[in-house]
Amino acid sequence: MERETLDRWDKEYFWHPFTQMGVYVREENLIFEKGEGVYLYDVDGRKYIDAISSLWCNIHGHNHPVINRAIINQLYKVAHTTTLGNSNVPATLLAKRLVDIAPDGLSKVFFSEDGAEAMEIAVKMAYHYFKNKGEERPLFVTLQEAYHGDTLGAVSIGGIDLFHSTYKPLLFETIKLPCPYRWAVSNFGREKALDEEVSKEYGRIMEKVLEENGDKVAAVVMESGIQGAAGMLPFPKGLLRVARDVTKRFGVLLILDEVATGFGRTGAMFSCMREGVSPDIMALGKGITGGYMPLAATLVTDEIYQAFLGELGDQKHFYHGHTYTGNNLACAAALANLDIFEKEKVLERLPEKIERLSKFLEPLWDHPLVGDIRQLGFMVGVEVVKDKKTMEPFPYGEGVGFKIAKLARKRGVFFRPLGDVMVIMPPLSITIEELRLVVRALEESLEEFYRSL
Ligand code: PLP
Repeated sequence: MERETLDRWDKEYFWHPFTQMGVYVREENLIFEKGEGVYLYDVDGRKYIDAISSLWCNIHGHNHPVINRAIINQLYKVAHTTTLGNSNVPATLLAKRLVDIAPDGLSKVFFSEDGAEAMEIAVKMAYHYFKNKGEERPLFVTLQEAYHGDTLGAVSIGGIDLFHSTYKPLLFETIKLPCPYRWAVSNFGREKALDEEVSKEYGRIMEKVLEENGDKVAAVVMESGIQGAAGMLPFPKGLLRVARDVTKRFGVLLILDEVATGFGRTGAMFSCMREGVSPDIMALGKGITGGYMPLAATLVTDEIYQAFLGELGDQKHFYHGHTYTGNNLACAAALANLDIFEKEKVLERLPEKIERLSKFLEPLWDHPLVGDIRQLGFMVGVEVVKDKKTMEPFPYGEGVGFKIAKLARKRGVFFRPLGDVMVIMPPLSITIEELRLVVRALEESLEEFYRSL
């Protein structure tokens, strides 16, 4: 297929997600054709380091032979069989395997296809759990700047005005706590924003809300250690532990969203493990298949699961399911993903890479357009601002993040920014040398943009 035809059809027929199509159709866009390791190739044969893991999901690189083979082997058996009232081999094996590696106490797995669904399921399960116990708890405590996906339930528990405020009349009510990072910076200053002290103070806000509304609240919902889509806003140290303690004391569930943080992104298999925290419900997605197939999972404790048990006539069971729940090909890919974690000792090799990445980022602090650099493991946000002293941003409509990302393409690196926050979140398989290339491309692109002002 000719590049020109593809480009024309792309612009004529394809409505892209999170994309202002009025702008998109005027621009020259990347059309990817293949991938190999951390590299993506477009239809013009140009090669880019995938600095955002194809939206935060690729783990061991593209076109990995182990995952490829697992999918092909499964394909020759069967591509999809329903799991509504039946089972299949890879989904069963994967459920057991996820429980084996999950934080203590999470013992049942409910599959779906995307992160948003895993969170919708978490919310419905939490509400339904209390209902099955004879309690009416329609409220959820959520965070400002939270992002849990784009379906309406996930949007209800979200807190990013730019994405979410349009749909307000369609959403259910939640109680919103302040965004931990922004709250910490404005109350304690940037230097102390991630200190353990901050978490204790923040815990008091949570306590107060639960004191006032506790018997109506089903769960506290949070991303697990960093608010990704808000621009990589990390939590202060110990906040997950504080949230666990407070929710336990008030008899409220803790739902942790590990969709972005799971599968090694923060240096641990699951981010909550860094603080020794086990939530009541944990949502997984993105990296679960190594970034190959749409699959997500909601893991729960036995206590929650037990509340749904009974006879058919009791009507207590979870009325939720999707056509592709537990899809055979996706589960086969997920099993291979976990095999690679073990065989290639992926987690053991991460600390050095994370440390080197921090070192490479250090000089960026001096750049006149860099207002903040935030990192948790392999999740990095470099915030570009108009005025470094006042942190005044560039006007939204200028699309500065996109402009810088475009400049980086010339340097062989593919970025997708969050507004004016440049995200670095590459496959975990990236080498130290490639990490250096990513940061250098960002630095040079920032500089080129700065000179153009
Ligand atoms: N939860 C978090 C923390 C996310 O970062 C995302 C996506 O970025 C989602 C949920 C939604 O996942 P999906 O896009 O697969 O629906």
